[in-house]
Order: sequence, then structure tokens, then C-alpha cells
Amino acid sequence: MKYSSTRGREQLLVSAEAIISGIADNGGLFVPLRIPVLDRAVIASLAGLSYQQRAVKILNEFLTDYCIDDLNRCIAEAYHADKFDDKAIAPLKTLPDGNYVLELWHGPTSAFKDMALQLLPQLMSRALQMTGESDEIVILVATSGDTGKAALEGFRDIEQIKIIVFYPYQGVSEIQRRQMVSQAGDNVAVIAVKGNFDDAQTGVKNVFNHEQYKEELAKAGFQLSSANSINWGRLVPQIVYYFSAYADLVREGQIALGHEVNFVVPTGNFGNILAGYYAKQMGLPVKRLICASNANNVLTDFLQTGVYDRKRGFHKTISPSMDILISSNLERLLYHITGGNTEQIKAWMTALNTEGRYDIGAENLTVVQELFWAGWADDAGTMRTIKDIYERYGYTADPHTAVAWQVGNTYRRETGDATPSIILSTASPYKFNESVLQAITGKDLAGKDEFDMLEELAGLSGLEVPPSLAGLKDAPARFGQTCEKTELEQVIKCLLVK
Ligand SMILES: *Cc1c(COP(=O)(O)O)cnc(C)c1O
Repeated sequence: MKYSSTRGREQLLVSAEAIISGIADNGGLFVPLRIPVLDRAVIASLAGLSYQQRAVKILNEFLTDYCIDDLNRCIAEAYHADKFDDKAIAPLKTLPDGNYVLELWHGPTSAFKDMALQLLPQLMSRALQMTGESDEIVILVATSGDTGKAALEGFRDIEQIKIIVFYPYQGVSEIQRRQMVSQAGDNVAVIAVKGNFDDAQTGVKNVFNHEQYKEELAKAGFQLSSANSINWGRLVPQIVYYFSAYADLVREGQIALGHEVNFVVPTGNFGNILAGYYAKQMGLPVKRLICASNANNVLTDFLQTGVYDRKRGFHKTISPSMDILISSNLERLLYHITGGNTEQIKAWMTALNTEGRYDIGAENLTVVQELFWAGWADDAGTMRTIKDIYERYGYTADPHTAVAWQVGNTYRRETGDATPSIILSTASPYKFNESVLQAITGKDLAGKDEFDMLEELAGLSGLEVPPSLAGLKDAPARFGQTCEKTELEQVIKCLLVK
């Protein structure tokens, strides 16, 4: 299987090359030339397999240049019992009255980014061997909080790869910040950017698009790459959990093979939900993908009107991993629904850059709306939902999960669609303990110690505090550097070329 850019087919790469590059030379994202379709019998066979075995089946469809032994090794390393605290890896929980919750946060950093970022470093490391690449790869990451830690943990001490993470100064939770600045490893660096997530992401994208700068780094033996969900190696592992959730429902007799389900997906960069789109195109019986946003509801508006308009206020919310106004992965969806019209994609992305908006028109909107439904929840609604779920089901949900939950309820109410719904739960409630505790107890916790709150939440939820979070209390900070949003290039060069 070959990969090309969403903005023109002058580069045709195998997956190992696409994973090393991260982003295409023309600024587009790598997409597979065709989407493989699985027979019903193959989907049925997944029910009897472990998560790791399911992953091999799905990845083998896309990463055809990797041999099966390599895939097996990469997957075994990524989804190892030492790293995930649930042997199902992505367990599906059934609650009373027909709600299903797919928990994607049992990995080492307690958020769903681990699902992809435990595997990407393995795939990239193998790709370097396969292609005979001799340069050192430098992974640049812009993070709204969770990606940074998950990428640092995934890439730490991986040979021939360095990783530099940029996070928005004062734009992540205290737990997230501590997780990052205390990161171990000889090949890691963490920097706070004075700006919001979009500033950090735009800063990183600008570095990727600066040819002369990249040539200078190349002369020193460094090649840049990305661990954000613009990298194909981030997206493909995420397709697996959609199949896995479905296979679990079939195995447990909750649905018959072939019956449709809906997925409700808390979304920011459109990566999480785009993986669901690929799963549906591959033949997974999905009726609707329900896109759940917070007050940064640019995707809700887009999916309702066909106009993507980033010219709006940026909101800091209690679901910060979705505080995003430029959803990069939408470009891949647009590529697929236009039948690979690279000229059209280029025009829209140019318009987004220069005018801050683009309009996909009525015909494309119809196609999009058959696939997706969209809604959003504000912070007050998110807090009410956390409390409601806790009281009704005894389930403790993090704010991102609660956003999805609320939007899923709205969807059912407004459409009357009673198709079984799987809510993607993307973070452990402990990662956002302050908001969760406040929602459940109604107490104002401003200024309260993070670690006291972990204990208090443990008392209420009955869930064990993940040891990696409890251990942060005594973990010394290794990184305290901040930079302006215009300074990324200097900072990177300083770190690399000593
Ligand atoms: C990253 C993240 C999301 C959104 O995922 P996208 O790939 O940006 O759509 C949702 N919830 C949590 C907890 C996250 O970390």
C-alpha cells in the first residue's frame, strides 16, 4: 500500500517512509491511496482475539511494507502488561440502560494518547532500520496536554530518535504539567510556549514548512518528524479500538454481527474521530460518528454548516485537550470525501491560512452529514454531566468523557436514534481531578493541593490512583524553560547543535 499527500501526488511513499516523515513535503498529510475493506467473516473473527491480535490484523492491512513478525513485535512491545493496567488494553464497560463506555486510558500516562503513542515509536524505530536511514530523527510535538506526556513516555530512550515537546504556558492542568516537566530519558526536552495550543501547533508547523531551516538541520544530521496526529503512524493504531469495541459487543452477545452502532467521540484535532471514519470505510457497521466538542466548537459549526471558520474567540475549558481551533486531521476527511481532489484541498487549506475560513459547499456537506453528527457542551454542562453520571451509575468520568456523554444524550433526544452507542472515554478522571471532584462534591477547590485531591477522589470513586500519577508528588522537575511563540526555531537549534 502506498501513501500520498492530501495536497498533490508528487510523493508516493510506503508506510515506513510516511511514518518517518510525519508530514508531506508540500505541507499536506499522508493518506493511503485506497482504504482496505474487511469481510464480515474477518470482523467476526476478531471477537475471539486479544487486543494485540486484533491490532495485528488491522495494521497489516495498512502497513504492508512491515512483515508480520515486525508488526507482532512492535505491538507486543507497545501493548505490554507492564504498561497497561488492564489486560483488555481498551476495556469496554457496559452500564445499565444500554450505554457502553470504551476506556482508552489504561496506559502509562492515563490518557487515550497512549493507545497510539506507545506504538508509534516502535513503528518508527523499525522504519528507520527498514529504510536504512542514518540521520537522527527529531520529533517535534505541540501538545494541549496529553500528547506531550504520552509522546515523551513512548519515545524516551528510543535509539536514533530525540523528542522536543512544546506545551502552552498555563494552558495545561497541573498534573499534566508535572507529568511532562519530570519526564525521564536522555533524549527528551520540554518547553512551555507563551501562547495557547494553536500557537504551539502553528509554531511547530511553521518549523516543518521552513525549508532552509530544515536543510541546515539536515547538514548537522538531523531530520524533523512529528508525533502529532498528523503522522499516519498515530492514526492507524487508533482504528484498532473501534474494531475492538465492536468485537467485544459481539463476543458478549450485546449485539448481533452486522448490527450498527454509533460512536460518540470527544474530539479536538479530529484525529480520534477520523480513525472511526476509517473503521467505517473498512466495513465496520457504524451508523453515525458523533463528534463532541467543548466551547471551542469550530467542528460543531463546520459539521452543521459546511463552513470552517477559525476566526473566533479561544476558550480555556475544563476539557483542555480539546481546546483547539485548527483541527488538522479534517484535511484527511476532506481528501477522502472529495475523491482525492488535491487541488480542492490545497485551495481550502490556503483559504484557511489566509482568510481563516473555507466553505465546502452543499454537496460535500450532505456527504459529511451522512457520516457525522455534531454537538458541544459548555463547562457548566460538563460539570452537571459528571455529577449526573456519578450519581446515576456510580461511574466517575473525566471532563472530556463527560463532554461526549452529554453530546450523546443530546443526539438521542434530538434524533430519536436508539442505535447502541459507545462513548469513547479518553482520560482517567484522576488526570483532571480538580474539575471532577468539584463537579461531584460541589465544593470550590481553588488552591487545594493536587495530591490531596487525588486521595479524595480515590475515596469517592473507588478507583485506584494510577501509581504514575501518585508518584508525581516527589518527582523533581527537570525542565523549566519557556519561550515566545516566535522562538521555536532558535530553541530547537540550541538543543540539537550544542
Ligand atoms: C487528545 C484528546 C482528545 C481529542 O483527540 P483528538 O485526536 O485531538 O481528536 C480527547 N480527550 C483527551 C483526554 C485527549 O487527550
